Amino acid sequence: MRTVYLDNNATTQVRPEVVEVMTPFFTDFYGNPSSVHRLGAKPASAVLKARRSVAGLLGCTDSEIIFTSCGTESDNIAIGGALGATTGKKHVITTAVEHPAVTKVFNRLESLGYRATYLPVDGDGCLDPADLEAALTEDTALVSVMYANNETGVLMPIQEITRTMAGRNIPLHVDAVTAAGKIPLDMAAMPIDLLAVSGHKLHAPKGVGVLFCRKGTPFEPMMDGSTQERGRRPGTENVPGIVAMGKACEIAAGKQDYYDTEVRRLRDRLEDGLVGAIEDTHVNGRGAQRLPTTSNVLFRGIDAGAMLLLLDEAGICASAGSACSSRAGKVSPTLLAMGLTPEDAAASIRFSLSAWTTEEDIDYCIDIIPGIVDKLRGRKTR
Ligand code: PLP
Repeated sequence: MRTVYLDNNATTQVRPEVVEVMTPFFTDFYGNPSSVHRLGAKPASAVLKARRSVAGLLGCTDSEIIFTSCGTESDNIAIGGALGATTGKKHVITTAVEHPAVTKVFNRLESLGYRATYLPVDGDGCLDPADLEAALTEDTALVSVMYANNETGVLMPIQEITRTMAGRNIPLHVDAVTAAGKIPLDMAAMPIDLLAVSGHKLHAPKGVGVLFCRKGTPFEPMMDGSTQERGRRPGTENVPGIVAMGKACEIAAGKQDYYDTEVRRLRDRLEDGLVGAIEDTHVNGRGAQRLPTTSNVLFRGIDAGAMLLLLDEAGICASAGSACSSRAGKVSPTLLAMGLTPEDAAASIRFSLSAWTTEEDIDYCIDIIPGIVDKLRGRKTR
């Protein structure tokens, strides 16, 4: 049976070129990059090369790149690291639609005595920078806003947010896990202080992430250990993962036009096809600027959990909300924050594309999904 993988915001397939460059670092060049002997030299230079490739994708210098184990770690150490270097201030700001890798850190901060503001979003899932401006106080220690939402692909107005925060000396952390590799992220042009990226969302393997930490940003390491990553994230480097991340970033840098044109065209084709063929179907966040890869579709009256099973039977891999919350069967807080009713939020499915998605994949979905929705709505299949 045909498999159509439309769950690329959950994770992506590792590119064959990436597997190829990382494999020798398991088998031949397995030395510790900190070792002075010959088996340490090659891993050390490979880590440096990878660091430069990641810095190239993000428009920063290689010393501003910290390798981590995943996006969750990058978010955690960004927020904890920035707050650990700040004394006295006890107010933190984020949005109501962040991934748990940020939200749960904020929940913990509240239990530690911080005051947290969770900024609302509008019906399309977008933040109004005026709300941020109104929330900032003398006591604000940190702001954390995602670049693109993982469930809807909605882009937050990061450029305007940086303008709102200009001159206030408050660190801005941006979770760019969903955005990185799909759209240009130029740290030279945007005064973001900390930015989280995850390898497995951009065709590198699971187990590697990146935190961009702008030169001069006060940062207190969250772990004690040796001097790897300039002491900011000690622990022996995941050399194969880092090499893979470097290669994936090099490739991603050359693919952004393709995402902007071809992947966007396929995403729009999917949305137009579904909305045109199935009554009472809406694209959540359609009025906002969005990533070209993500489509969150409300099929009113269906149960997303049941629909995912039928999609899977038909070979279509999608998800409801984020991958982690869809397993937990939770209604998406992001969709609720956008003003959807719990019933509509529980009737919404996320389709996320990659550069490997084909026209045939999309046409197959447009062909199959109307019948699945009919079945779930208790109507005769067309
Ligand atoms: N931030 C966002 C927006 C995500 O979508 C995810 C994962 O889905 C994460 C953070 C966590 O990344 P990782 O799975 O690499 O820990």
